[in-house]
Amino acid sequence: MNQDTIVALSTSPGIGAIAVIRLSGPEAIELTNHVFHGKDLTKQESHTIHFGTLRDGSKIVDEVLVSLFIAPRSFTRENVVEISCHGSPYIVRQIIQLLLKQGARLAKAGEFTQRAFLNGQFDLAQAEAVADLINADSEASHRAAMNQMRGGFSDQIKALREELIHFASMIELELDFGEEDVEFADRDDLKKLINQLLSAINPLIDSFALGNVIKNGIPTVIAGKPNAGKSTLLNALLNEEKAIVSNIPGTTRDFIEDELNIGGVVFRFIDTAGLRDTEDTIEKIGVARTEEQMKKASLILYLIDLEDDTVVELHRALNKLENLGIPFLLIGNKGDSAKPEMRTALEKIPGSIVISAGTKENLEGLKDRILEVVHLEDFKTGDTIVTNVRHYDNLFKTKQALQDVLNGLDNNITGDFLAMDIRQSLHYLGEITGEITTDDLLANIFSKFCIGK
Ligand code: GDP
Repeated sequence: MNQDTIVALSTSPGIGAIAVIRLSGPEAIELTNHVFHGKDLTKQESHTIHFGTLRDGSKIVDEVLVSLFIAPRSFTRENVVEISCHGSPYIVRQIIQLLLKQGARLAKAGEFTQRAFLNGQFDLAQAEAVADLINADSEASHRAAMNQMRGGFSDQIKALREELIHFASMIELELDFGEEDVEFADRDDLKKLINQLLSAINPLIDSFALGNVIKNGIPTVIAGKPNAGKSTLLNALLNEEKAIVSNIPGTTRDFIEDELNIGGVVFRFIDTAGLRDTEDTIEKIGVARTEEQMKKASLILYLIDLEDDTVVELHRALNKLENLGIPFLLIGNKGDSAKPEMRTALEKIPGSIVISAGTKENLEGLKDRILEVVHLEDFKTGDTIVTNVRHYDNLFKTKQALQDVLNGLDNNITGDFLAMDIRQSLHYLGEITGEITTDDLLANIFSKFCIGK
């Protein structure tokens, strides 16, 4: 149990209609009561709100509403006071200073959530989901964080861990019998369990690729020859002038990253410098980087200039895209002024689409096709998705340790080595939900939160 009482502004800094200052700790209510003029807060029930003034000596600092949450019925499971004051940075500073003078201390980054975790409000994975939830800026990332915060992911991990613990104890029991040739843990059963575990863990590991794009956006490249209309398309999609539109081929030399939310999924656009062979040195760097970016992308939007490109170029581009093995969408641009043979050739390619970025024609159709190509509908079924790189790391290490157990079984290694590998897997799994923690791990996780969380 923490002995000190912490205080911080919990709403975002700056001017607002109201601001909320939060205290947590054994003295939270008494401290506030010292400077509060109104009812005696120490005599009020939990989950009640009280109007009054906060005073520094005889000076009234603000009129406030004070909400009381008495331990353990609060977010941190400690006494919590939330002071709603007027949203002026000056008032907020005055009030916090007043509370510091009464003996509170400024909260460190993430300290409220850390206390909630340490007091058993939720496990580590759920605590991390609180941060993700606050940062979620799209429907998909919100859904993944919400799912994790509500424990979906942790439950699965905990269940797997329980099964392993059972086996570990059986094997350790064997070790207690020393020289005697007893096997409490049937090796075939153990093998079966490990394989079950692996088939539960593998989809979680695989889901990270998806989880990562949900959380960070899908890296998307708009590619195509200079003048195909890449900047125009990006602008049309983003609805503002963020890329340089120019008639001069190859003027878009710098990558401009921007995000677009389509159907609740974030796409992170990387604008490119065009893909033609050129003698221009600066342009050459651009082309090399474009190819690099294409390989890094999870989605390529490839623009064909229906006004200017040839059928041969179209098929060469298609060939190249198919060889890259990255999801792509072939887009015929300049539909408004297309050469008829180009339009026909493009329309013969399944899955392609004709648009006109310049006249904003069929952009909605394009957005629908983009969502189809990345098909995130798998995600909507409510499967557990790993979005946290720390969890991914630990799952990956668990998998390796489990594979060591399997190899050990195949090579008939002794029980003590088996037990060691199993303990290793247990350790990695335990770190995900916080059943096993170190101060470093906690400090690392919670320092990424901001103050007041
Ligand atoms: P980028 O080099 O691929 O980025 O191409 P830009 O976006 O700079 O466009 C090159 C030229 O094509 C500009 O003059 C645009 O106005 C023009 N353009 C872009 N989209 C369309 C379109 O849909 N129809 C027509 N007719 N012209 C377009």
